[in-house]
Amino acid sequence: MLNLVIFGPPGCGKGTQSARIAENFGLIHLSSGDLLRDEIDRGSELGLQVRSYVEKGLLVPDNIILRKIYKSAIRFINSSGIIFDGFPRTMVQAIMFDKFLKKKNITLNMVIFMMVERAELFKRLRGRAEDSERKDDKEKIFNVRMDVYEKETHCLKKYYIRQNKLLKVSGMYPVDDVSEKIAHAINHYRQKNEIFSDVI
Ligand code: ADP
Repeated sequence: MLNLVIFGPPGCGKGTQSARIAENFGLIHLSSGDLLRDEIDRGSELGLQVRSYVEKGLLVPDNIILRKIYKSAIRFINSSGIIFDGFPRTMVQAIMFDKFLKKKNITLNMVIFMMVERAELFKRLRGRAEDSERKDDKEKIFNVRMDVYEKETHCLKKYYIRQNKLLKVSGMYPVDDVSEKIAHAINHYRQKNEIFSDVI
């Protein structure tokens, strides 16, 4: 299996890159945001529980997201690998996720950290908000998501550096260039079992 995590600020392009990585390497794309939006759209019990958090740009409680991710990941335990997009997002999630992986004898191979400057994120948001159906793409909510990211998610960087798993990717380049760089880094990892330490 090749198991990856991708994280970065809202609007960094991780959804697009995850889909491409999944396609290129035959992985399952597990997006926590998509899973939650799907529950909300279906009006399920879980959807009703999480709706207000997602619409306000706040994080869904750890226990809810953990249960959902475990359930989804177990379905794909015999696949060629999974790319986790948007999960883990807090230290609690990361620690619990490690415990889960250990119990299931699964290795997390690499954590892709996408870096984009704040000014660029706002520029992209303005382009995206106009045609987006996502209520959380509105500017005020976007600010909340940015704050949440900086408070809760950014610290994961250190956690995965300590595990020697972090691949730092600049998301400031055009989409195709970013995909190419990531694909190159994954191929390098597969051949040499080594993760580039510099920003790619
Ligand atoms: P983005 O990264 O662009 O903010 P996502 O689609 O990853 O968008 O997430 C959208 C929303 O779904 C988040 O703002 C949050 O409310 C919820 N969410 C997604 N993943 C998690 C998670 N791992 N933990 C808690 N809440 C989450």
